[in-house]
Amino acid sequence: MDCPQLLIISIDALLHADLADCSRLPHIASIIAEGSMVESMHSIYPSLTHPAHASIISGRPPSQTGVWSNTHFRPFAKSVRWFNRLAEVRCPTILHQAKERGLSTAACRWPLTAEGWPTIDYLVPEVTGDEIEHSGMECLLKASCSPSVWPLVAEHMHLLDGKRQPNEDYFSTALAAAIIERHRPNLVLTHPACVDSARHHTGLFSEAVDQALVHVDAMVGQLIASGPTNIIILGDHGHLPVDRAIALNVRLRDAGLITAAEDGSILSFDAWAHANGLSAHLYLADRADYALHRKVELLLRGWMEEGDSGIGAFFTTALAKQRYGLDGPFSFVIEGDGHSEFVDDVLAVAVRPYKSPRSGHGHLPSLGHQPPLLCVGPAFKSQIRLSRGSILDVAPLAAAVLGFGDGGPLGTLLR
Ligand SMILES: [Zn+2]
Repeated sequence: MDCPQLLIISIDALLHADLADCSRLPHIASIIAEGSMVESMHSIYPSLTHPAHASIISGRPPSQTGVWSNTHFRPFAKSVRWFNRLAEVRCPTILHQAKERGLSTAACRWPLTAEGWPTIDYLVPEVTGDEIEHSGMECLLKASCSPSVWPLVAEHMHLLDGKRQPNEDYFSTALAAAIIERHRPNLVLTHPACVDSARHHTGLFSEAVDQALVHVDAMVGQLIASGPTNIIILGDHGHLPVDRAIALNVRLRDAGLITAAEDGSILSFDAWAHANGLSAHLYLADRADYALHRKVELLLRGWMEEGDSGIGAFFTTALAKQRYGLDGPFSFVIEGDGHSEFVDDVLAVAVRPYKSPRSGHGHLPSLGHQPPLLCVGPAFKSQIRLSRGSILDVAPLAAAVLGFGDGGPLGTLLR
């Protein structure tokens, strides 16, 4: 019997609207023509890359994955620490389930897979800018890739230019394609991110975004040429145009709830807003301090009622868990006004208009353009068009392709 095989390509911030003019995306167009599609895949809250990728591989929301943000809450630290290790996902993932069944696995720059070897046989983890500065790219990759892929990684290092895009995506794509050709793992995960990067820096739709889409289409072509049996392509979240940055911590400092040194380092805090793009998590120094909780709640309500504070809504964490499957050690979740991004620092002015078009995410996933899912291969029916799905449906669908489970809510896509 043939071993089942599946390649999942998460094209960061791919939107259904990107597929409208497929003449510039011939490889993706061939998948649309031969395969099936879900037009709108509901993401998780906050609609951020690392929490979304934990949810894609586990089928669980952030309240169960424990990955509620891109980065850890460390107000006193000088450096950023990402949620990026497989061990930080608090529930089983499709990688664990495949491994338990004796299948082989690979991941190339898929968030939340660092230190995932030997659960992941062929591992090239996502590395962050801070880590590269500390160790250098080559040392870092040598230390963090699985031993079985280091020779391949070394062979492809010339494609890299630090973390510049689209170089980094071509590097991880070439590695994923080489791993598929040489090792034929049952499950391969890869994550090109240049479309997201272009959206952040040049706006929701722009020439740079069009160019990035041409690049990712070429990457999809390279991956198809490596001969995977079944392919799922999806986007991880939407994007909204943003025109300004809001530093809530400047307001919290002005309210006497944060004290900072002149260089911006934090001396103490009673309340701290941890930015998640278009939303934020409000941490209290003591979650059990009811008087502080009430004081901050009244402040947030007052700011929201000003109308131009950047705050569109806020919820207690209990309500965020009940409504949106979001939980964590914070006390409030602040949803922005849909056109402002939150930032963490305390020193500059609270509101900073952008001078050029930008776009961002982290917002409630029901807002704005939605990501699609495409699938093709002998495991999938052709020409099925579903209007809605959820990124939580990807893990059960992938499990069924690999030979276990019923496929979940998207099981109708399966033969
Ligand atoms: Zn993303």
